[in-house]
This record gives sequence, structure tokens and C-alpha cells, in this order.
Amino acid sequence: MKGLKSKDASLASLGIKNTKEEYWNLSPEELTNIAVEKKQGVLTDTGALAVDTGEFTGRAPKDKFFVYDNATKDTIWWGDVNFKFDEAKFQPLYDKVAKYFEGKEVFIRDSYACADPKYRLNIRVVTEYAWSNLFANNLFLRPSKQEIETFRPEWHIICAPGFKADAKTDGTRQHNFAILNLTKKIILIGGTGYTGEIKKGIFTLLNYILPHEKGVLSMHCSANIGKKGDTAIFFGLSGTGKTTLSADPDRGLIGDDEHGWADKTIFNFEGGCYAKCVNLTEEKEPQIFRAIKAGALVENTRFFPGTKKVNYDDISVTENTRVAYPINFIENAVEPSVGGIPKNIFFLTCDAFGVLPPVSKLTPGQAMYHFISGYTAKVAGTEMGITEPTLTFSACFGKAFLPLHPTKYAELLGKKLKENKVNVWLVNTGWSGGAYGVGSRIRLSYTRALITAAMNGELDNVSYETLPVFGLQFPASCPGVPAEILNPRATWKDKNAYDEKANSLAKSFVKNFEQYASAASDEILRAAPKVAEKV
Ligand code: ATP
Ligand code: MN
Repeated sequence: MKGLKSKDASLASLGIKNTKEEYWNLSPEELTNIAVEKKQGVLTDTGALAVDTGEFTGRAPKDKFFVYDNATKDTIWWGDVNFKFDEAKFQPLYDKVAKYFEGKEVFIRDSYACADPKYRLNIRVVTEYAWSNLFANNLFLRPSKQEIETFRPEWHIICAPGFKADAKTDGTRQHNFAILNLTKKIILIGGTGYTGEIKKGIFTLLNYILPHEKGVLSMHCSANIGKKGDTAIFFGLSGTGKTTLSADPDRGLIGDDEHGWADKTIFNFEGGCYAKCVNLTEEKEPQIFRAIKAGALVENTRFFPGTKKVNYDDISVTENTRVAYPINFIENAVEPSVGGIPKNIFFLTCDAFGVLPPVSKLTPGQAMYHFISGYTAKVAGTEMGITEPTLTFSACFGKAFLPLHPTKYAELLGKKLKENKVNVWLVNTGWSGGAYGVGSRIRLSYTRALITAAMNGELDNVSYETLPVFGLQFPASCPGVPAEILNPRATWKDKNAYDEKANSLAKSFVKNFEQYASAASDEILRAAPKVAEKV
């Protein structure tokens, strides 16, 4: 055994025996060196470790399971987000994975989730690869040396990317899997090296434990805090700007992706960030760019030929290139990552149809309506020759990670909004001046200016206009932003085309909401867009 661990910590208690070597809680430098030595990765010119995650460069949502047993059968929202895993199949598969580690070098990391000590969850992560272990170090919270010496894990993550399941006998859908077992407190990951499975496995778990057992709202959002102690949170689906917009040199970063809202605090679940790298430039996103240094883990990028300089425009492996770094790589990160009740909530949506205003202020009813809807649009990959953007409605801006029915989270948010004075804003970080193909994505500098203005109260005393169909109130002016972009309809040359698009988007909203309508109050239902019979 090499590294640092508590006296009684052992792999044998996990059924993992006869390993070639155990590496406990190695430093980022040690893990990076081992990964390079073993040719699992290479150093970039800034000293970061660059790896390829292999067959999977994104999560595999269809291969994520909950063990179906007494603990889960009546509580989990079973369906196309949460798939059942046969209780009887778990131990045999677990044993196979444990056996797979025999004769191998194994990396173990003690870490925890939830920056508010009241909710701290200790996690021991066991990985086949050094870089998966570095990921866990960077993304989760890091116990001190003393804490490691007495560390008692509550949950275990076992991550074996090289292990391939046999779907026929093992009860999986195919060779890869991520299985949560709430009774045994294990997350078992195999067949995929995509590190996001480790991160989102714990997020999924906390989305169960916190609302269900502790009355805390778990949220797919980033959070930052101003100099006067005002907290802001940013909900949004993938690619809408949570990480980008929360990195703000004038505000302390609380976290970039996952938070809890307790009675008096907003707290980060994690200890690091997992930022997209596509088209990254120092000029546009200086904080993230500079965080890519020794200790950071870069995934699925490519170098400029003949150099070790990452070409962030190269998406030949995947569009989802990522970097994982500890939160203190961002200069103004706050530690511990905790803030007070938010003063402003931003719902980020990347509307590729160019219908929604760059910013609008929501009524309480609209806030709930848009939270439950969780709208965004994805721009299809051009390599397939597809140019049509696709609509996504993902409840609570994170449906893929919700083990409970969306109304559970919505009820909690509704309660918190009623108890506290919070401004809720809808921010379109997507298209303006026309839909994808005609218009263009709104400039990041404008989005930043709009958000800053909202947080500084500069949108409190300006006049507002109402967007037809959606009934959204948007400001008629904002410092630092040309007034003409604030009204989306005004940015379209072809007004009829705008009205048609707005109407068809509204129809999609209404249709999507049907599944939640029976559980929604009149106030929420009244906030639905009004589809025009004829335009
Ligand atoms: P995930 O949940 O996958 O981590 P995310 O919400 O954190 O996603 P980001 O990583 O912030 O999303 O991605 C937003 C991407 O969109 C970045 O690459 C950013 O540079 C780009 N972008 C372009 N224009 C804007 C804009 N106006 N606002 C926000 N982001 C923009
Ligand atoms: Mn992010």
C-alpha cells in the first residue's frame, strides 16, 4: 500500500483482494505522474493532464439504474429517467467487478460531498485508473490529512471503466452501467470511463437524500456571491451557461453545477468545477482558461500538431470536451462554498429558436411554470448534416438526475420562493435576430451585462414591455446593452416568421406541461404561454 489512509481502511472489506498495489489518497501530482508513466494521459504545455475517456465521452443515461428494493420501490420516480435494476443481480455483478480488480493497481480516494457540515456525506472512491481518481479529487470536497487518518466512508463509488458487463447474465442493458444501490450505499460504475458518471452519480444520490430525508432542495445550478453578501443562483441545462456565467471576477464563486438550499444556506455539493472547453479562449473566459494548469484534468481534447498546446476548437473527439479542476483554481472561489438565501435566481435557457428575450423578470407563477418546464434547445451536431435545433424540456432543469417526481422539487422551490423575497429571471443565452441558421447566439458580454444589471438592481426602475404569447416582462433598456436586442421580435427582420415560431414554441410548452397540469395550482397554470389560434 502506498499513500495515506486511516488504520482500519481496507479494500478487503469491499471484497477486493490480491491487488497488485493500492494507492491511497495520492496527491494530484502523484496521480498525474502515474497516469503519464502508464501512458494513460499526457501533459499539456500548462502542466494539466490530458486524457481520453475512451468509448464514452458523455453520460449514458439509458444505462443508469437504481436497485429496485424495499428502500426504493415506493419512493423512486420509475420510468425513462430511473431504470430498475434487479436486486438479485446486484451482488453477483458487484463480485465480478471486485474480482476484476485482482492483480491490478487500484486507486482509492477519500472525499466528501456537501460544503455545509450539517449535510456532509463521506465518500470513498475506488478507481481502476489514476485519472479517474484525480477527477474525484478535483470534483469532490477534499478532507484534510488529519481527517483522512480517521475517515469513515458512508458511501462507496467503485469505478471500473475496463470492466465490461455481459448484459444477458448481469442484468444490465449493455456492457456499461452506473448502478445506485441505496441499501448498500454503493455506486457501481463499469464499462465507461466518462468521469461525469462519478460526478452525476453523487448528484443523483443527493437529489434523493436531501429532499426526501432532510427537507433540503437539491438543485442543478451554479451559484456565486457578491461583495455585499448577496447570493445568486443559475439554473440551466447542459450548455446553457451555468459554469461560464457563474465565473465572474467581481463575485465569489460558490460552485458551478450542484447546490442545496437549506433553511438558511445555499451550499455547494462539490469541491470543483467541470467546465466545457469547446471554443475556450482566454479573452472570453479568462478564469476557466487559467484554471487549466498542473493538477487539472483535460478530457478528450487535441493538441495543435507538433505541440502540447490544446486546440480548444478541435472537437474531432467530441463536442463535449471538458476540464475538471478544484474550485480553488478559480481565484475568487469562496471557501467553504456556502452562501446565504439567494437574492436573485436566473433560469438559463439556450433558446435556439430566438423567441425568448435575452432577459425577462418572472412572476411567482411564471417562475414555477418555467422551473417545471425546464426548457432549452439543443443545436444538433453539424457533422450529421442536421441543422434543425431540437427542443428539450427537462423538469427542474435537470430531469436526468431526479430520482423523485419533479413536483417534489417544485413544491420545495415554491415554498422557498414564498418564504423569501427572491427575484427570478429568465435569461436566454441562445439565439437572437432569428432562429438558429438565421440569427446568431447572443454575445456572452451582453448576457453578462444583463445579469450584472439585474443583480445590481439596475433593472428595478426601468420600464418593462410584455412579450406576446409568452407574457414575459422584459426591460426596455439596460446599461451596457443595446436596447434593440432586448425585444426578440424587434430583432427579427421577418415579424411573421417570429410570430409563427413563438406560437409553435408556445404549443410545445403547453403540450409538455400536460403531464404536470393536474399537480399544478391555478397561479402556475395561468402562467402558461397563450397559443394564438391564428397568427
Ligand atoms: P453543463 O451542465 O454541461 O456543465 P453549463 O450550463 O455549465 O453546462 P457552460 O459550460 O457554461 O454550460 O457552457 C456554455 C457554453 O456556451 C460555453 O462554451 C460558452 O462559451 C458558450 N456561450 C456562448 N454564448 C453564450 C452566452 N451568451 N451566455 C452563456 N454562454 C455562452
Ligand atoms: Mn457546467
